Amino acid sequence: MKLSKPRTKFYSCGIVYWQFLRDLLARSIHRGDDLTKFEAAAAEHFGSDHAVAVPMARVGIYLCLRYYLQAGQLVASSPYTLAEVINMIVCAGGTPRFVDIDRNNADLDPEKLSQCTDDNLGAILVTHLHGIPANIRPILEFAKSRGIPVIEDAAQSAGAMVDGRYVGTLGNAGVFSFGILKQLNSIYGGMVLTNDAALTAFLREELAKFAPVPVGTLAYKLAYLGRNHVLTSNPIFTLGTFPLLRHGALHGVGWINRLVTVETDLRLKHEIDDWYQHQLSASQARMLLRQLPDLEKHDQQRIRHGQAYLELLSDVPGLVLPKLPENCRATFAHFPVQVADPPNLLRWLNFYGQDVVIQHFANCAELDCFSKFRRDCPVAAEVANSMVLLPTYPDFGIHNVQRNSQIVRKYFGAGQPIFDGTNRLQLG
Ligand SMILES: *Cc1c(COP(=O)(O)O)cnc(C)c1O
Repeated sequence: MKLSKPRTKFYSCGIVYWQFLRDLLARSIHRGDDLTKFEAAAAEHFGSDHAVAVPMARVGIYLCLRYYLQAGQLVASSPYTLAEVINMIVCAGGTPRFVDIDRNNADLDPEKLSQCTDDNLGAILVTHLHGIPANIRPILEFAKSRGIPVIEDAAQSAGAMVDGRYVGTLGNAGVFSFGILKQLNSIYGGMVLTNDAALTAFLREELAKFAPVPVGTLAYKLAYLGRNHVLTSNPIFTLGTFPLLRHGALHGVGWINRLVTVETDLRLKHEIDDWYQHQLSASQARMLLRQLPDLEKHDQQRIRHGQAYLELLSDVPGLVLPKLPENCRATFAHFPVQVADPPNLLRWLNFYGQDVVIQHFANCAELDCFSKFRRDCPVAAEVANSMVLLPTYPDFGIHNVQRNSQIVRKYFGAGQPIFDGTNRLQLG
């Protein structure tokens, strides 16, 4: 039996279950000084003066902005990100100032930023999407000339580098996520890296006001991870999950397709949710401490897969591949490709037995909930309608990269035929 590989994979599940169960039985979820140990290890690993563990990346962004912003100031940001990140700007008292993105890496375009002449600009939020660094050097120069801080959203890019330095350590503060879909997985969590001692003190003061995360909340999230882990594990994935998803995609079955549709909570928020306001537990820090030594190994495996996609797909006309800024290391959380009709390519790949995911980020600059901040961002609008993410995770395997690439090439070779499952006999 040929096993199908899922679109995404959850990292380090074994470590997470084992650590949680052990700490639960020993009643030591909150016991121990491992949070401090993890912060020291992370600061050392990434080469930053301070690391502060936060409950989620978004809370890290929120707190950093609260520290740096004066009320009503603008925050320049890419509109192509999680809507909730934009909400964090508002919750921190800022006003989003959308700046269009660079088609090559789907990150903030420094050229467009340099046209930003607003004089109440208070901060720049730079996202490094998909493990591909933003072209951050000109952004840092612009920020310096204006005397404003740069906050990096490195949630998808732990291990990526620019000029030999880790992203997340290039601006005034860098924010990482340890959610279940990220390279370091502590059920949920995040951290802020910074060399700014005053910011560090502010973060610690604010975090001290949060309550320790309830064990029940962790258990609930863990059950969700466990369910998805099982559904994406073989042979269940090959025999059950994938045939179901494939059937849903090929035949347009609404209820099946909704199972994998990410429901983003698209509403404007002025205050952060209560359940965001928790301290990470010592147990989660122990999970992270055990994963940190493998981060580089996992990065290397994804880089190998990303490089292979780049080579195998480089000469396909009509396919937009990521172009990396000079002298940087991309760690390819996924391999992003832009195509005219993502659902059609998804059906094509599904038909040939390959599972992929369509990026669900919207162009926030044109969302109804952010209509007050609306701005024309034509590149983000186009990218939001064309992004497919090919898998790169460590055990995806190079032959699956080759197979995906071959099927994508075949799709373009056949002239991107409309493929809705009715004409598959001629095409197969
Ligand atoms: C996952 C993600 C976040 C949010 O991370 P949380 O830890 O869930 O808050 C923010 N930005 C980007 C780009 C992400 O991928």
